[in-house]
Amino acid sequence: MKCKSNKNSCTLIISMILAVTVIWIGFFIRKDAKEPINPSEANLIIRSIKNETLTEMINNDTSQVQKHSGPSFGKVAHITIDDGPSKYTNDILDILAVNNVKATFFMINGNMKKHIEEVKRIEEEGHGAGFHSVTHDIHQLYKSPEITLNEFETCKDTFYNITGEVSKLIRVPYGSKPYMPEDSHELLLKYGYKMWDWNLDTQDWNGTTDNIVSNILYYGRNNPNLVILMHEKQQTVESLQSIIRVLKERGYNILPITEDIQEKNYWDGNL
Ligand SMILES: [Zn+2]
Repeated sequence: MKCKSNKNSCTLIISMILAVTVIWIGFFIRKDAKEPINPSEANLIIRSIKNETLTEMINNDTSQVQKHSGPSFGKVAHITIDDGPSKYTNDILDILAVNNVKATFFMINGNMKKHIEEVKRIEEEGHGAGFHSVTHDIHQLYKSPEITLNEFETCKDTFYNITGEVSKLIRVPYGSKPYMPEDSHELLLKYGYKMWDWNLDTQDWNGTTDNIVSNILYYGRNNPNLVILMHEKQQTVESLQSIIRVLKERGYNILPITEDIQEKNYWDGNL
């Protein structure tokens, strides 16, 4: 009723209400963007994200998607696959080949001996090849620096005997921190080993394809340099095609880890 009698005042009041609302919303968006997200908050967000289907989530997330635009300059993703080779390696390699993508395999000594043809294929098809210890047991691996070194030297020799090639790339089981003692670290450095940890855990051991891909979308957002942790599992085979597609859509150049790249690990604090 008042609007009819005083149209200008009414318009002014409505404009002020709108302005305050916009400022209020803006404050919360800005607050959200600036504050680090703690793990429990992250879980809540992920749970709400996961209420969408994967297709909806990918279609709705337009902020980072650069569909059909090719790799963006400087955006790199390393797909790393631990604990093999295994009965899944050939399927993983087939999917990588179809997509013309190279990954990096951190292999356990005994599994290399069991899957010699797969080790050869990894090397021949240009993937990164590194080592993931003999025992995969940090209580054994870190008994002394010499034992630590010996496990990786053993892996190196096995790989050389199979392929005729040498690699100094390693990933220690469960990550380098907090488990690895300083003297073990120093000895590995002295012998030229390049240690890699990760900055994106897909939690593939516990997930479906939707879970794994949404973990990559969520934890990888706004990060132009991803080192993605995966394992040789059925879920890896099932989710790999979707992972590659999503990474490419977001402009990542998917590259293998090679010895000429500066290693990234928790010890160096550069992940
Ligand atoms: Zn492992």
